[in-house]
Amino acid sequence: MLKRNFTEEQNMFRGAYRKFLEKEIAPHVERWREQGIVDREAFTKAGEQGFLMIWPEEQYGGMGDDDFRFEQIIIEETANVYAGDWTNTLHSRLVGPYLSRFGSDEQKARFLPKCVTGECILAVAMTEPDAGSDLAGMRATAKDMGDHWLLNGAKTYISNGINADLVVVAAKTDPDNNPHAMGLFLVERGMEGFERGRNLKKMGMKAQDTAELFFNDVKVPKENVLGDPTLGFVYLMQGLAEERLIGACGFIASAQKAFEVTREFVMERKVFGKPLSYMQNTQFKMAELR
Ligand SMILES: Cc1cc2nc3c(=O)[nH]c(=O)nc-3n(C[C@H](O)[C@H](O)[C@H](O)COP(=O)(O)OP(=O)(O)OC[C@H]3O[C@@H](n4cnc5c(N)ncnc54)[C@H](O)[C@@H]3O)c2cc1C
Repeated sequence: MLKRNFTEEQNMFRGAYRKFLEKEIAPHVERWREQGIVDREAFTKAGEQGFLMIWPEEQYGGMGDDDFRFEQIIIEETANVYAGDWTNTLHSRLVGPYLSRFGSDEQKARFLPKCVTGECILAVAMTEPDAGSDLAGMRATAKDMGDHWLLNGAKTYISNGINADLVVVAAKTDPDNNPHAMGLFLVERGMEGFERGRNLKKMGMKAQDTAELFFNDVKVPKENVLGDPTLGFVYLMQGLAEERLIGACGFIASAQKAFEVTREFVMERKVFGKPLSYMQNTQFKMAELR
């Protein structure tokens, strides 16, 4: 794993996180894949040791350090123990920032500390059965009822869909007059009308609970709206650049791991009395992969 361009503190963080993964995460990954979901304790144990949502200010329990390289370390080391389907980064760096960027002080104080400890697991729900890439085709709606919003709709492919305690749900807020008006609503576990559907079976990322969510006349209190209820689309787009960087870090880390595992295999495996790595074609292939 490349370690260039990291500070001394970050290299120490990497060592500590690697130890944590080896003890608390790696031994459970196969079981999580079989059950299709990560134990909630993965989040609380990471939270206890300061490996979950590290960027919030100290008053919310975080380290107050927004340097992306900490997250890069988390992504790389998680891939290194084959635990890339544990949604640490989705919780910490994809969804969490919506609260700090667009949430009020009251919302931050209410939710961030529990997200840092892992007691409150996060998800974001944009995709619908008929709206994926084309988010503007979303059908979920939230109607302003004066003292609350009435949320209706169905979402699918939602990561942490089963485990989530707090879901940032995107819904159209003025479909008749302004089809671009969209709000982000904080829907909490236990709210009446919020139901979970199937935990979907997937080809990969099997330990990740990717699920269907349903919202039937959910009364979302006004204090659970993130920012301006017409600017949700703009808010979602603001996170995309970093989400792509997160994706890139994960893909490179997984490719690197796949290369290392293959290298070990071809050096050990013997065919016709010689290790596979002595074969010219294997050498060409490995060089190409490198
Ligand atoms: C493991 C997993 C986890 C996920 N987690 C979440 C989550 O937590 N929250 C959430 O909201 N969503 C989540 N998603 C959903 C994800 O965001 C969507 O899958 C994605 O937005 C694509 O939508 P879609 O699957 O409906 O594909 P579609 O939008 O139906 O696209 C199908 C195909 O058409 C192509 N296509 C689309 N538009 C065009 C175009 N204009 N021109 C040419 N080709 C086009 C696409 O590239 C794709 O190949 C998750 C998905 C997966 C697989």
